[in-house]
Amino acid sequence: MRKPIIGITSNHSDDYTQCKLNKAYIEAVTSAGGLAIVLPIISEQGIIGEYIDEIDGLLLTGGVDIDPLLYGENPLPVNGELDPLRDYFELELLSYADQAELPILGICKGCQILNVAMGGTLYQDLYKQKKTVFKHFQDAPRWYPTHGINIEGNSYLYKIINKKNTKVNSIHHQGIKDVSSDFNITAQADDGVIEAIEKKDGRFVIGVQWHPEIMWENEKENFYLFTEFIRQSKNQ
Ligand code: MN
Repeated sequence: MRKPIIGITSNHSDDYTQCKLNKAYIEAVTSAGGLAIVLPIISEQGIIGEYIDEIDGLLLTGGVDIDPLLYGENPLPVNGELDPLRDYFELELLSYADQAELPILGICKGCQILNVAMGGTLYQDLYKQKKTVFKHFQDAPRWYPTHGINIEGNSYLYKIINKKNTKVNSIHHQGIKDVSSDFNITAQADDGVIEAIEKKDGRFVIGVQWHPEIMWENEKENFYLFTEFIRQSKNQ
């Protein structure tokens, strides 16, 4: 039987002439038993739907900030770099992926775009807009877990990780503000920052604010996130 094909979203290079992707995502998917395919950023709507026909699971990766107009806000001065073409591409991908009921794993920006696609909002900058906030953009090595999270006991995430408390890395200055009504909050840091969400219908549509793709070699529970994603993708 062939391996499940996992479409992984890419980033633009700084000058917008290339699509690129950190190899850590590819290595995590490959090690967990998936066949990793990099999805280049395109604008042709019909072809975006064809990508979804070809893949068994969708992995939304990290990147720059999401255009606040997409969640009904004007940009504050603290809002960072935007990539409108990537936002458009990923929102289109998500509308097709949702119709096709594909398993979806959203990581960092990928977690945020999942929330925005389903009607949620973001903090444009946690430090400026939220009263109590830990350091969520760590200066430690990227793989190193720097803050704790509390996981909801009745969540899919808990079934996968099998722990109510764990530690994660943190490389984000934005975060979820209002969660989409289609999602449950399934993990938070002690300062209230939302660290994971999942779709209420029980399918594998999970967003995590941390970066499991650079933690799984040291922290097994992050590997289980990928193996369960691939296992669900097998059924497509
Ligand atoms: Mn964090």
